[in-house]
Amino acid sequence: MESVTCWQYSPSRLAKLGFGALATVPHVTLNDGNTIPQLGFGVFQIPPAETERAVLHALTVGYRHIDTAEMYGNERDVGDAIRSFGVDRGEVYITSKLNNGFHRPDDARRAFERTLEALGFEYVDLFLIHWPLPTLYDGDFVSTWQALEEFRADGRARSIGVSNFQVAHLRLLAAETETVPAVNQFELHPYFQNRDVAAYGREHGIATEAWAPLAQAKVLDDSTLTRIAERCSKTTAQVVLRWHVQRGNIVFPKSVTPERIAENFAIFDFELGADDMAAVDGLDRGEAGRDGPDPDTFAYILD
Ligand code: NDP
Repeated sequence: MESVTCWQYSPSRLAKLGFGALATVPHVTLNDGNTIPQLGFGVFQIPPAETERAVLHALTVGYRHIDTAEMYGNERDVGDAIRSFGVDRGEVYITSKLNNGFHRPDDARRAFERTLEALGFEYVDLFLIHWPLPTLYDGDFVSTWQALEEFRADGRARSIGVSNFQVAHLRLLAAETETVPAVNQFELHPYFQNRDVAAYGREHGIATEAWAPLAQAKVLDDSTLTRIAERCSKTTAQVVLRWHVQRGNIVFPKSVTPERIAENFAIFDFELGADDMAAVDGLDRGEAGRDGPDPDTFAYILD
């Protein structure tokens, strides 16, 4: 007989845990002592004209962490949404990323200033090298990282990290530079669990940020996930996001659909048991499950 392993928290248990409407999102402590909300809102592929409305809705639902990038072309709209919502800057965690065409340290300095200017804020909470681009810039992302160390030292980036770094790239940074990245943001979802990169992060105090946490919706019809979702009276998206959170991953699902934005936030009133967690772990397809580009060969520069 299948054991029931999905625990719904009662309102009184939630109250005991100290969860109010806005206080439901746990925070992860990074290796520099700063904290980051474990659930945020991603804005990749949201056209600039739609971004302010989507971010405003996310803030209304309770999200306080937005993940953007210069490459997404919507940093300005993210800033506008935060200002028009009227919340203090310090209450929203903002991440942005260095655009691929600007890895040389002087270019990185200019690109970072552009990001702050577009957002309209004096600092970001987290700034990342978006891609390592090991086949460009003579493979040199070390000097790029040293520019990010300056942004952290002068307080304009509260934390710094990397994105799409493979184990070899992380090892090179460790050998050549002083600062361990606070996070590595890379593709991770049930079909591609990227276990070697995640394990390196765990061993070296680098928090895992899972991009495309829903595999851009490609996992949502999976029969294992739909079975768990039915038993928990949750959606498959909620089950996947809950799995991420219980594995310790930081996630920021993207949606332009108001109901989904709210649905993706409602994942803190239930818990998956060990057998359901193991069932989702078992969906990993290794490298065959990768949906996005391979960081070892990716060399895209936006014109
Ligand atoms: P996601 O895994 O978040 O999936 C987004 C897709 O899933 C959209 O098509 C959305 O549709 C759909 N969706 C969202 N919620 C639901 C739901 N509850 N039910 C059904 N469908 C749903 O993919 P992303 O690639 O957007 O990844 C999330 C974030 O990660 C990005 O926005 C970005 O911030 C970051 N990222 C970083 C990268 C990097 O290189 N560092 C690369 C890629 C992403 P709809 O919008 O129509 O509702």
